[in-house]
Amino acid sequence: MKKPIILFKYGGNAMTNASLQKEVLRNIISVKQKGYNVIISHGGGPFIKKILKQVNIESEFIDGHRVTTPQAFEYIEMTLKGQVNSNLVNTINVLGSKAVGLSGIDGKTVIAEKRMHKKVINGKEAVIDLGRVGNVSKVNRQLIDSLFGNNFIPVIACIAADENGIGYNINGDIFAGTLAGALSAKQFIVLTDVDGLMIDKDNPESLIRNIRLNELEKLKRDGVIQGGMMPKIEACENAINKGTESAKIINGTKPEQILSIGENKFGTLIKK
Ligand code: ADP
Ligand code: MG
Repeated sequence: MKKPIILFKYGGNAMTNASLQKEVLRNIISVKQKGYNVIISHGGGPFIKKILKQVNIESEFIDGHRVTTPQAFEYIEMTLKGQVNSNLVNTINVLGSKAVGLSGIDGKTVIAEKRMHKKVINGKEAVIDLGRVGNVSKVNRQLIDSLFGNNFIPVIACIAADENGIGYNINGDIFAGTLAGALSAKQFIVLTDVDGLMIDKDNPESLIRNIRLNELEKLKRDGVIQGGMMPKIEACENAINKGTESAKIINGTKPEQILSIGENKFGTLIKK
């Protein structure tokens, strides 16, 4: 029988501390040892921010998406694959498991298309051009399945190209959620820097422990879900609508939360 798949989205802000990162990866390896196929899909916001600052490229964010010029894209790809991805793979290897680093481009695993970002402005829906920001248009699971079959942990950076080879920066959450759905992952786990979805983002006491997919729309309308949480929620919706059983948003700065797989002790659990 095939092992159930758990896809972890590892966020930039929960990734910057090296010893914490090691603990996160150690615990993801423990989940694998419990009998799951694990895959890590990552972003790298803080690392990208640093490099773009060094080369004097300003970044504007719209609803949690980084507006990306072709020049900025080059630096983003370099950072995500050459630095962040490579580091994660190296750390997993040192911890005794075996990881393989890739982006959506490898094996044509993820095909991108330009994202037509919709935003309501003054009560009217407008389409905003985010530049080289993509959506996932197609997933081909062949490479990932062969890595699972040979006991590797795939580590995938949120970059992909379209059919013509144009590269796109895809928001790390959206990339991960769509991939989780396409792989029919048992669970999509988003590691971030807060305990989960909160009614008031500045009050940890207001953490939502369980929520249904159809309850999310209202929270978006009411402005409860803001900034970086917006693509996370869209990603959880994508994942579940495409075949993932459930999604969970937990705190990646508290790595012990990763170990409670299969239980509902931490974070926000989202189900159909
Ligand atoms: P990551 O690097 O993990 O993607 P982001 O900064 O993009 O992190 O997104 C997480 C942030 O989303 C939180 O730190 C928080 O400030 C913000 N946020 C907005 N709305 C909410 C909400 N309703 N509940 C929790 N966090 C929220
Ligand atoms: Mg983010």
